Amino acid sequence: MKKKLIIFDMDGTIYLGKNLIDGALDTFKYLNDNHIDYLFFTNNSSHDLDFYYQKIKAFGIECDLKKNFYSSTEVTISYLKERNIKDIFVIGNECLKKKLRNHFNIIKEYNVNNKVDAVVCGFSTELVYQELKDASLYLQTRDIPFIATNGDYRCPIEDGLYIPDCGGMIEWLRLCTSKRAKVLGKPNPEIIDYIAKEYKVKKDEILIVGDRLYTDILVGVNAHVDTLCVLSGESSLEDVCNYEHQPTYILDSIKSLPDLLK
Ligand SMILES: [Mg+2]
Repeated sequence: MKKKLIIFDMDGTIYLGKNLIDGALDTFKYLNDNHIDYLFFTNNSSHDLDFYYQKIKAFGIECDLKKNFYSSTEVTISYLKERNIKDIFVIGNECLKKKLRNHFNIIKEYNVNNKVDAVVCGFSTELVYQELKDASLYLQTRDIPFIATNGDYRCPIEDGLYIPDCGGMIEWLRLCTSKRAKVLGKPNPEIIDYIAKEYKVKKDEILIVGDRLYTDILVGVNAHVDTLCVLSGESSLEDVCNYEHQPTYILDSIKSLPDLLK
């Protein structure tokens, strides 16, 4: 199988919490030696890319912050810019707001006279009720796009536990306003279009590698791109077999990825 760009999920695929997946360093050496590009993609908009860059670099994997990292935040920026959106109300951590502020005017608390072109909701671990209230008021009083960086209901943390993610926050707003968010990030296939364009590769030159079926694998299925499901994280072989969409390839971990690429 010949591929030019490999899009990796991180948690459960490259590492498990603080531990690098066995054989990962050799896999990345193989990719570098064979000039196969790779990209780390995360749906998580609660950290900036530097957080992941530092983590991946600390494992000893060769990477560049600008070249090898992409997240639902970057997808959101491209999406909003394409639509010429300027003034936005944002629910999200300060790092998301800081990134968005470079491109858009962020509107503060609700005021009936404010010009707002869209409401953006990210995975906020700094959420305060006032933000939900203001977002709900903007959505009820204006016919504007409602955008979510990602739709994950929960985010894995240590010891097999989870914390509430962006998917629940947009559900809260939907129940109040009857407005359904446009969800970017995996499994939205548009992200693959953005990446293919930015990295100048064709879709059949891309492989998506991840451990979660309804995001990592589904985004590939939706975008008609080859997928590799690794069994080192969330999904067991039984889960994969029972899932309605099958990945193109299944491996125990990325340790054996070079064999697949030969
Ligand atoms: Mg994962």
